[in-house]
Amino acid sequence: MDPTIQIRLLGVRGTLPVHGGDFASFGGGTSCVLVWAGGETIILDAGTGLSGRAWQAFHPQRHCSMLITHAHVDHLMGFPPFGPLFDPTVRCDVYLKTREGRSAREQMETLMAPPLWPVRTDSMKADLRFHDVPGAFSIGPVEIKTMESRHPGGSTIYKITYGGRSVVYATDYEPESDAPDDFCAFAEGCSLLLLDAQYTSEEYTCTRGFGHSTIPRSAAIAHRCGAEQTLLIHHDPKRTDRHLLALEEAVRTQHPNVRFGRQGEEVLL
Ligand SMILES: [Zn+2]
Ligand SMILES: [Zn+2]
Repeated sequence: MDPTIQIRLLGVRGTLPVHGGDFASFGGGTSCVLVWAGGETIILDAGTGLSGRAWQAFHPQRHCSMLITHAHVDHLMGFPPFGPLFDPTVRCDVYLKTREGRSAREQMETLMAPPLWPVRTDSMKADLRFHDVPGAFSIGPVEIKTMESRHPGGSTIYKITYGGRSVVYATDYEPESDAPDDFCAFAEGCSLLLLDAQYTSEEYTCTRGFGHSTIPRSAAIAHRCGAEQTLLIHHDPKRTDRHLLALEEAVRTQHPNVRFGRQGEEVLL
């Protein structure tokens, strides 16, 4: 079997989808990343990036696994209208950690019930299976490890390993320092790190406690982890392409392996 991991970023915006010419390069869809490895289709989060091209990529396969970090709406809004879930020949395994006694299905159904949405999960035709998130599990030949994030209400950080290569997906994460021991041990030496960097240091004086990292802090953590390459994600919705490019250039002078993720880009590991 092909030993590579293929990643496609479908949505890298945080909090709120944005549209228009000022956001064309980095994109406006919220959190969603497609991962293909070992013949498995894995979808990290189901933000508004989960539409259009995602459908085309997924359609030839009849099975996908969705690893959802948490049930904040910017990570779920692409799920209710996702075309394959209305196809009776499709199976979808949805992983979302039980929180405050509420199962994965119960959390998804908070969004998918009137008056917020007309279609409930039991009206979807696909074979939908909901799962709690164990500390470690596997999807076919792909190994998944998890770590609890620092985020209001909780969130899950995922590490996907296959063929000796690994991807760490750490969005909605507010590290307590530039070198958090637990996270650095979890992500050490990963092939690709996708890491929250919603705020600038100046903004963080007002946004501390909102559950997100800053650009300089995340760049420092990426360096500390020894990640081969890092894409910073969960861009603030007010951040235009021009602003992101300027911030990215400043980061890269110090950390050449760190870039900002762009919607639609692909990485092959
Ligand atoms: Zn978010
Ligand atoms: Zn969140």
